[in-house]
Amino acid sequence: MTGSRRWRGTSLEADHSLAGEVAAALAKPAAQQPLWPDPVRAAEVVGLLHGAEPIVTPEETARLSGRLAAVARGDAFLLQGGDCAETFADNTEPHLRANLRVLGRMAAVIAGESGLPVVTIARMAGQYAKPRSKPLDALGLPAYRGDIVNSPESTLVARTPDPDRMLRAHAHAADAMAVIRRAGTAEEIYVGHELLLLDYEQSVLFVDGYGPRRLASGLAHFLWVGERTRQLDGAHIAFARLLANPIGLKIGPTVTPEQAVEYVERLDPHGTPGQLTLVSRMGYQRVREVLPTIVEKVTASGHEVIWQCDPVHGNTRISGNGHKTRHVAHIVDELRGFFEVHRRLGTHPGGIHVEVTGEDVTECLGGAAGITESDLPARYRTACDPRLNADQSIELSFTVAELLRG
Ligand code: PEP
Ligand code: MN
Repeated sequence: MTGSRRWRGTSLEADHSLAGEVAAALAKPAAQQPLWPDPVRAAEVVGLLHGAEPIVTPEETARLSGRLAAVARGDAFLLQGGDCAETFADNTEPHLRANLRVLGRMAAVIAGESGLPVVTIARMAGQYAKPRSKPLDALGLPAYRGDIVNSPESTLVARTPDPDRMLRAHAHAADAMAVIRRAGTAEEIYVGHELLLLDYEQSVLFVDGYGPRRLASGLAHFLWVGERTRQLDGAHIAFARLLANPIGLKIGPTVTPEQAVEYVERLDPHGTPGQLTLVSRMGYQRVREVLPTIVEKVTASGHEVIWQCDPVHGNTRISGNGHKTRHVAHIVDELRGFFEVHRRLGTHPGGIHVEVTGEDVTECLGGAAGITESDLPARYRTACDPRLNADQSIELSFTVAELLRG
């Protein structure tokens, strides 16, 4: 294949109006981008990536869009999960298979107990970039921004952004996708990651996508815009708006109902059911208060979005012994609040988005095994946020199924 931006004979460069729209979107202010120390090399890498092989095909992505339309109508449930940050070191067949296995078991529990078909999207094959709350860490070093940008070791050399890592990330994503395809899970499995690092995300674009939009990313089936990069006039929203891929948008408790409607109009301009997934991550203490008006206003707009609950990112705290953690009780409470709101309003609680691993880590508190703060150091392995371990994940899926049965 010569240049994956070609598809059915059209290249983005040859389509001046579409190329202009992409350039205009990318020229807008973009939060959370690394400052590459060697901008010349960064530009070279971006050029190389433009000719890179696709990770997914537009046909697969179109099939996912069809499945997500069913979720938006209330006829299916969307399960999304995986590592907070994939790492190059953990891009191994055993790790990927363990995560696929736990997602498969969660989907089987939810589908089996609720009777609703489950659509599964793994945070995999590209979840390498992380937004950070501060540009520098406690030692004054540049923050770790995910393996696609720098390395977590606490030295200046390791933390200096290295654009060549984008090439390694692409190669790792291709390897991971090969494992996923080889694993040949019983159900279809799709992949998604945060649309964050724009130098990477602007590569591997298919022209003549599908549906009303002509541009499709070949880097993942599903892409989401995070809580820290959802500025209404920023580059991430403008770029996501151009894509045919189904898009997620994380919304925290500071979003107003009016802003939510504005997002929906921008990201679902053609009124396609399931094109936009609104991922609420309000925290267990706020969800019952903040979510109802957002759901009411968006529903009144006529757009058929998917309502997905991320019950983990609003419930992160630092333990007494210094670990970033989450308590299963808080996660379950936010989920219950999310279901209560949708039951009351008659809308479909359409999915969950969680950070999980198939490995027996000790990163989140609670669950049937009763993990306590003093247990955390034993197997605390995440590169970024704490993940539910396999047992905690399966327990959570029984709770989801119980809530779905109402
Ligand atoms: C994430 O999903 O890892 C993430 C950073 O989430 P949020 O944008 O909701 O904080
Ligand atoms: Mn995270």
